[in-house]
Amino acid sequence: MASLDSKLVGVLGDRTAKVLRELYGYITIGDLLHHYPRRYLVRGELSNISELIEGDEVTILAQIYSATSRRLHARKGNILEVVVTDGTAKLSLTFFNQAWREKELKVGRQGLFAGKVGVFNGKRQLAHPDYELIADGSDVDSAVEGFAGKYLPMYPASAKLPSWKIAQCIELAIGALDDIPDFIPDWVRDKYGFPSLRQALVQLHSPVDLESAEKSRQRITFDEALLMQLLLLTRRRELKGLAAVARPEKSDGILKKFDNSLPFQLTGGQVAVAQEIADDLAQSHPMHRLLQGEVGSGKTIVALRAALTVVDNGGQAALLAPTEVLAAQHLRTIEKLLGPLAKGGMLGAAESATQITLITGSQSASARRDALAKAASGEAGIVIGTHALLGESVEFKDLGLIIVDEQHRFGVEQRDALKSKAVNPPHLLVMTATPIPRTVAMTVFGDLDVSTLRELPLGRAPITTHVIPVLEKPSYLDRAWSRIKEEVAQGHQAYVVAPRISPSISEDADMDFLMGETTNTMASVEELGPELQSGALSGLKVAPLHGRLSAEEKEATMQAFANREIDVLVSTTVIEVGVDVPNATVMVIMDADRFGVSQLHQLRGRVGRGTSPGLCLLVTSAQPESPARERLAAVAATLDGFELSRIDLEQRREGDVLGVNQSGGKSHLRLLRVLRDESLIEAARDDASTILDTGIENHPLLVAALAQVQADSAAEFIDKA
Ligand code: ADP
Ligand code: MG
Repeated sequence: MASLDSKLVGVLGDRTAKVLRELYGYITIGDLLHHYPRRYLVRGELSNISELIEGDEVTILAQIYSATSRRLHARKGNILEVVVTDGTAKLSLTFFNQAWREKELKVGRQGLFAGKVGVFNGKRQLAHPDYELIADGSDVDSAVEGFAGKYLPMYPASAKLPSWKIAQCIELAIGALDDIPDFIPDWVRDKYGFPSLRQALVQLHSPVDLESAEKSRQRITFDEALLMQLLLLTRRRELKGLAAVARPEKSDGILKKFDNSLPFQLTGGQVAVAQEIADDLAQSHPMHRLLQGEVGSGKTIVALRAALTVVDNGGQAALLAPTEVLAAQHLRTIEKLLGPLAKGGMLGAAESATQITLITGSQSASARRDALAKAASGEAGIVIGTHALLGESVEFKDLGLIIVDEQHRFGVEQRDALKSKAVNPPHLLVMTATPIPRTVAMTVFGDLDVSTLRELPLGRAPITTHVIPVLEKPSYLDRAWSRIKEEVAQGHQAYVVAPRISPSISEDADMDFLMGETTNTMASVEELGPELQSGALSGLKVAPLHGRLSAEEKEATMQAFANREIDVLVSTTVIEVGVDVPNATVMVIMDADRFGVSQLHQLRGRVGRGTSPGLCLLVTSAQPESPARERLAAVAATLDGFELSRIDLEQRREGDVLGVNQSGGKSHLRLLRVLRDESLIEAARDDASTILDTGIENHPLLVAALAQVQADSAAEFIDKA
């Protein structure tokens, strides 16, 4: 008999095992059994085509009436349209880039088709329906009868391995299985009334009813959550066990002087978070803290205070920024905030002053040599940089604190690369301006403690956001340009954001893929800039900014904008994170529907950073009442980043958020969805904690499962690198 670790070859034979390996990387029975159905086709719930209502999830029994495939004009790809009929009416099924299905979806064939009813051009349709064809020649009634009482699992499938074939493989694999040892503790299973692992796998693949399928899904999802939480909590406990150098706050050093020199009062939130950080730094094990805060909530100062605390203790802080623009801006801001305190070693410098240096990929060889020397000698108490900071030539005298700005662009790997530059494990502060719902924080950053800054500094004027629907109200766009002119006339500055660099180049190749057909008509920096300069904004100083400019050009442009030498910056999303020019008060975002909800929130956080009110105009040609318009309306309706990030999450594949590919491979998060499974994740976290407290070594099967997850995630990491 076989176990979950048995090779598929033994059960399925060479050919099928090879296909599974090539398509999905599956080697063992366990791998295959974790290929879960996306849904079940249920006999008995068949609908008539004539009765279909938009938005319904339906299954129909129908015959193929016609099948045609055509190429798309505006982008690569093709559409296969299959029309089916059940005698009551016709319905079209559409498949994008799946022309291969034409081979099996032959006119005259019958099958069960399932999906969500949509409407396109006034016609009802199913886009990418699941289906199961009824074998040619078999009597339809008895074929349908064959499905009676059966919940047919529909698997993620492909041409080489259709769903029914996968179902067959799984049936064989389950049949060959011995009893499977269950790795979760009995008390956990009892607590939730979960089925055993074997029952759960069987029920998930061939349920007797949907309730037990759901219970099984919960059990397996819980397994994923539990293993993940065990992993994160273990990592966290290990960290607490590491020895770090304690860097307590000093009352007579650079930090004190800095506090005294601040032109404003820290907000209550800043004080509270600063205290949390100070408490961590004073411990002799490494801090591991995530600082999340609304855009403009003043994270930089909180981080700088932490850096100064470390400097007061003779250590150094490294500040890792996601882009050169941001690294350079941090250098400017921090030098300005510190004033004479940043002129350590120079004539007339304040006592206890330090130096700040910048390490980036594009700096000159001599600037780099100088910066490297200062980092290595310890002269520079604060070293700011991009990825270049991770380079092998970068050495520190005593790296005590790593600050990572805008975490979402940095992976754990980068954090680790930096850590390896310190003798003792350094303290770590991760900052993000993308507010993260609790469970996401628990899942993605489960090994970090979390501090949150919600409050904006007093006197900060609010940002007003409006949607400009150019299809219905073309004149509003002219009004947007006049608003920019008015603001500039009052001494302010403006941003105009476009989704593309040029008509054919975008900032982000992934975006191209998502954009689809209307790509050509989207606003681009290279077209819009000159157009505005010679048209609506003539007389103003308009300058472009995007990722294809050289680092010097980008830096010079940002510098000029900060110095008010440029009135209007026409930019791509390179300005998205962190750019801080308080004098900028208006932002016009072209084709705003092309951006994600959180991204728009980030973007508009660039205005209203000073004491004058900020205005953000979201220009769109999306249809009224379309989902795109609803998204924009949501952004316009609230300034609460937490709420928006939730909306964002609900709409995006959560895989993006978790940074893992959930569709295949060996990812251990196949069923887990951070929002849907919030309560499961929270329960799993509590249980994981109890298990660790009472000794995980009492559960050898669980220890083994955890080791497997650990090994696989290490392997995934290597794959990515
Ligand atoms: P973010 O959290 O988005 O990184 P920053 O740290 O860039 O925000 O701060 C935004 C602006 O607010 C900066 O110009 C900063 O100097 C200013 N600021 C920070 N804290 C305060 C405060 N307590 N009172 C007034 N202004 C502040
Ligand atoms: Mg910032």
